[in-house]
Amino acid sequence: MDRVFHVKQSKLNKLVVVAIDGPTGVGKSTLARKLADRWRFLYVDTGAMFRCLALKWKVLGHPEEDEALQMLGDNTHIAFSAAGRVFCDEQEVSAEIRTEEISRLASRVSKFEVIREVMKQQQRQLVAETKMQQVYSGAVLEGRDIGTVVLPDATIKFFVDADPKIRAQRRTDQLLEHGQHADYIEVFNAIQERDQQDQTRAIAPLKPAEDAVLVDTTQLTPEQVLEQMSDQIFNLAHSD
Ligand code: C5P
Repeated sequence: MDRVFHVKQSKLNKLVVVAIDGPTGVGKSTLARKLADRWRFLYVDTGAMFRCLALKWKVLGHPEEDEALQMLGDNTHIAFSAAGRVFCDEQEVSAEIRTEEISRLASRVSKFEVIREVMKQQQRQLVAETKMQQVYSGAVLEGRDIGTVVLPDATIKFFVDADPKIRAQRRTDQLLEHGQHADYIEVFNAIQERDQQDQTRAIAPLKPAEDAVLVDTTQLTPEQVLEQMSDQIFNLAHSD
């Protein structure tokens, strides 16, 4: 108990960049947001960035040519508020990007090389600005390719995973809690489909970085996972 208290009250003594990757529905966003609150990190939900592009890609009629995709990437301005609200071209889209349709489209649009390149540059830029501004004690980015491609030099990399059945159950409960329609079998199938797409795409597929810390959350509560990750960040920031 004393040790946990000590960790929570301490400051990190160097700027830390945390990469969190893992499949759909494993709880990465919640973990990243809580770590960001605890350690005063900038939090970047990279999935939300792909979702913003998916929203516009849908309106454009799903073009697949490089030129159209480049224009889409270059002409989309994505921003986050400190409270985690998401803005696309200055319009709030926090709720709109969370539908099942946009989840599927985000997975589809994210396989294009042009799109991945634009996102990678924007995500690296956010980290570079954080380092310059010195407002935060670091940054936490969560997604699918953060440790492997976007930030290969991150201070610490986590790969968070859980049994797909548990992920589907958690996601179903979450949707029901928010008063949305949710059917376990449908959710399970959608998760399997997105896992398959994310793991098998040619560019930046979902996989753990060689130096990632593997965290299996199947048998753990979110609090236990958070404590584990937080302790590791603390230890790393205080080692030389
Ligand atoms: O994390 P989230 O479910 O919001 O991500 C939506 C989709 O965006 C994922 O299914 C994945 O295909 C894509 N994505 C990605 N690389 C990231 C983050 C998300 O390809 N770094």
